[in-house]
Amino acid sequence: MPELIGIARMAAQSALMEAKSQVEYFEIGAHSILNRTKPNMPFRWTINPYRGCEFGCQYCYARYTHEFMGMPDGRDFEFKIYAKAAAPEILRRELRGIDRADGIALGTATDPYQPAERRFARTRAILEVFAAEKGRRLSITTKSSLVTRDVDLLCEIARRNVLAVNITVTTLNRRLARLMEPRAPRPDLRLGAVGTLAQAGIITGVFPNPILPMITDSEESLDALASAARQAGAQYFGGGPLFLMPSAQKIFFPFLESRFPKLVRPYKRLYAHSAYLGPGYKEELRARLARIRERHGLASAPVDYRPEQWAGEEQGTLFPL
Ligand code: SF4
Repeated sequence: MPELIGIARMAAQSALMEAKSQVEYFEIGAHSILNRTKPNMPFRWTINPYRGCEFGCQYCYARYTHEFMGMPDGRDFEFKIYAKAAAPEILRRELRGIDRADGIALGTATDPYQPAERRFARTRAILEVFAAEKGRRLSITTKSSLVTRDVDLLCEIARRNVLAVNITVTTLNRRLARLMEPRAPRPDLRLGAVGTLAQAGIITGVFPNPILPMITDSEESLDALASAARQAGAQYFGGGPLFLMPSAQKIFFPFLESRFPKLVRPYKRLYAHSAYLGPGYKEELRARLARIRERHGLASAPVDYRPEQWAGEEQGTLFPL
C-alpha cells in the first residue's frame, strides 16, 4: 500500500467521534480554515467547517474533496464526515492577515448546517468569531433550516459586517427533491428558513442551484420557485447550471440511469467534452432567469453596500427592493 501523505494521512489518523446508521463522524486537524479561491470568483476566501456532507445530493460537485483524503469512492463523501478541529482559533489568527473588504463564503464544499452541526456546532463556533469582528463581508450558503438556530448570532454579525444568507432550493416538488437531495430538509422547510431570516432583518436570497437541464430548468418550475422565494421574503434569486466534473458524474449518471433513464443520453451529450455547459444553454438560461426575476421583483445577488454606510438599523430594512 502506498504511503499516505498530507490530508490523506490526517484523514487516516482521525479519531472517530460518533457512528450512527451508515454515517461516521471524525475529527480532523486543520492547518488552515480560510481557503483562497480562484481569481474570477465573487468571493476571495471560503470556509468549510466540515469535510463531506451527509445530505448526499446526487449532483454534488464537492465529492472530489474526499479523493484528496484517499477515498476515491464518491459515496464516502456522504458517509464519512470530518469536523475540523480548532477552527475558531485558526480562523481568528488567519483573519488578522487578510483585507477586511475580501468576500468570505461559508459552505462551498460542504453544507455548514448538515446534521453533524447539531452535535458538533463547528459552524456556530465560526460564527462566534465573526460576531466579534467588524467590516467583514460574509455569505453563508445552506440547504438546511438549522441555520435559523443561529439567528441571534447572524443578527449580531449583520450589525457590524456585511452578511447575506443564501438558501438553496432546487425545486418545490418534494418528491423530486427527495430523489435528488436524499437527506436534505424539504423545500418548504428551507423556504420557512428564508422567512425567519428575512423577518429578523438578515439579507436573504434563494439559489436554485444547480439548475439541472430537462429536470429543474423549465421556466414554469423556476418561476414557481422564484414566486415562493419572494413570498417567503427572499430579496434575490441567483441561478447557474449544473457543473458536472468526472467525480460527480460517477454518482450522477447511475442516478439518472435509475430514475431518469431517458435523460442519460442527452446528458452524456451535453457533458461529453466539458464539466461546463456550452454558452448557448447558459445564455438562454440567463435570459430566462432575468425574465423571472423581473416578474417577481427579485435582484440577482445580495445588494452591495458598505457597513459604514449604515449605523444601527437592520440591513434588510435599509435596502428594500
Ligand atoms: S448540500 Fe451541497 S455540499 Fe452537501 S451534498 Fe448537497 S450539494 Fe453537496
